[in-house]
Amino acid sequence: MLYNEIVDVYEKIEATTKRLEMTDLLVNLLRKTPKEVIDKVIYLTQGKLYPDYYGVEIGLAERLALRALSEASGMTVSELENKLSEMGDIGLVTEYSLQRRKVKTLTEFLSSSKKTQLTVLEVYNTLDEIAKTSGEGAQDKKIRLLAGLLKKATPREGKYIMRTVTGRLRLGIADMTILDALAITFAQSKEARAKIEKAYNVSNDLGEVARRLAEEGLSGIDKIKIVIGRPIRPMLAERLSDAREIMEKLGGKFAAEYKYDGERIQAHKSGGNVILFSRRSENITHHYPDVCELIRSGLKAKEAVVEGEVVAVNTQTGEFLPFQELMHRRRKYGIEEAMEKYPVTLFLFDVLYVDGEEMLDKPYLERRRKLEEIVIEGERVKMATSKIIKDVEELEKFFMEAVEIGCEGLVCKSITSESIYQAGARGWLWIKYKRDYKSEMIDTVDLVVVGGFWGKGKRAGSYGALLMAAYDDETDTFKTVCKVGTGFTDEDLEKLPSILEPYRIPHPHARVDAKLEADVWFTPAIVLEILGAEITLSPIHTCALNKIREGAGLAIRFPRFTGKYRTDKKPEDATTVREIIEMYKMQLKKIEER
Ligand code: AMP
Repeated sequence: MLYNEIVDVYEKIEATTKRLEMTDLLVNLLRKTPKEVIDKVIYLTQGKLYPDYYGVEIGLAERLALRALSEASGMTVSELENKLSEMGDIGLVTEYSLQRRKVKTLTEFLSSSKKTQLTVLEVYNTLDEIAKTSGEGAQDKKIRLLAGLLKKATPREGKYIMRTVTGRLRLGIADMTILDALAITFAQSKEARAKIEKAYNVSNDLGEVARRLAEEGLSGIDKIKIVIGRPIRPMLAERLSDAREIMEKLGGKFAAEYKYDGERIQAHKSGGNVILFSRRSENITHHYPDVCELIRSGLKAKEAVVEGEVVAVNTQTGEFLPFQELMHRRRKYGIEEAMEKYPVTLFLFDVLYVDGEEMLDKPYLERRRKLEEIVIEGERVKMATSKIIKDVEELEKFFMEAVEIGCEGLVCKSITSESIYQAGARGWLWIKYKRDYKSEMIDTVDLVVVGGFWGKGKRAGSYGALLMAAYDDETDTFKTVCKVGTGFTDEDLEKLPSILEPYRIPHPHARVDAKLEADVWFTPAIVLEILGAEITLSPIHTCALNKIREGAGLAIRFPRFTGKYRTDKKPEDATTVREIIEMYKMQLKKIEER
């Protein structure tokens, strides 16, 4: 397969903002992709080489990439840098410079016109080699490899190769769009779509799902099982802030567990080996050597996958500390010291696999029993506190107890025979019940930065405000809900431009729905915790547009940044539009009750 063929599709995808069109384009691409390279085509289309959990990024520094481009195009590095500051996109600079590439001699001319076209495999393998090259002389070798590739590339191919190699290929294709395209290409039924999605949720690897489908059809999908060391996409909770509604949703009887305010961990144990994954399925083993030890010695099973919340504690008082304290663990060096200064306790709440047995399809109570069976509780590793709840009073009392000891509230969990572990899904089997009013204010929400407004005066050079969006899981888009300009410290203001720079794009992102015109736009990536005073109807925001009133959306009034960068959340984990509607309705109810 020629690289040119996928580049054709990239160009068309870039030109559309419609998800259905994107899906059609992907389907056409998948139909002509040979099964031998289908996994690679999927990764490349997502701007990567492997599934995320591998933790290997191509991300070649721009400086090095420009050196390679200089070699391939004949322009000097400083000429290229000037062009880059003028055009703002390394892909366009590449296209421009390769178009100007001069053919110097007759021999070069003859060999260039005979030049063979780049294949997908050649591009992939070279990028793979660049990503994996390390150690002495690595920089030069990377430059050589990339220059070699660019010399063979057409200007248009070069544009995408450079964006990919510097980690800037952002076509805006959501995982769900790729799943849709796979389902249309390889199977048509609804059940097949669900099966494909489940395989993705268990494997976290769209490339593997595609390869199995292409090679063996739907039956290949059944062979995708839990593998120790490969993260399973976590189950997520819906949210309600009314106890009665929770009772109703969960059928009058359910389990409530303390909702610890820490970092979610999925631990994979195989004998003495332990790997920890974050909620975003990143490998975070090295942040928590102490938690690895707790898993190693605290689980009776030889092989297991369990989930829990790691919470920072004050060893003097036994008090839980705020979530931010765990940020001290996000470092490469000095972990031993951080472990001593910021000790943690692990609260386990689920089990997904034990010694050859997959637990995903078992109901909650059976999983909980299994977990109790294999956990050896101690000072630092405990079962999440849980209780079976049968009425509202009990629920409220348990909620107060949880808040009293420093938890955020409760996670209420269905106990019916259907209460499976829904990997990768937000559903009504788990419902979070958090404090809704903190001193007259609504609870915090986690919103995604999608745009920015330049600051003036003291804030010149940074942002005066950020355009924030909630996640709409029905359409897989981001809807704006407020402009936030308060709560940022001087330090925040200083670092915001560089935090946001990698995500800057020249127009609103394909998955962002905004009426406001921001000065700059961003790919949805950064999630911030925001505290607001109330939710109001708004003519300028697109969150819940036309849902409550025709022509109006919902906005958060007087938003302020709490100081929490929710680095543990993906943009899709942000507060959803549905949750904001729910909060708005709750607020109305409270006002009526007064
Ligand atoms: P949120 O981060 O607000 O969407 O709430 C869901 C998160 O609560 C999960 O991802 C877990 O990190 C955390 N959590 C804390 N305690 C529990 C528990 N007992 N069961 C499930 N999730 C919990």
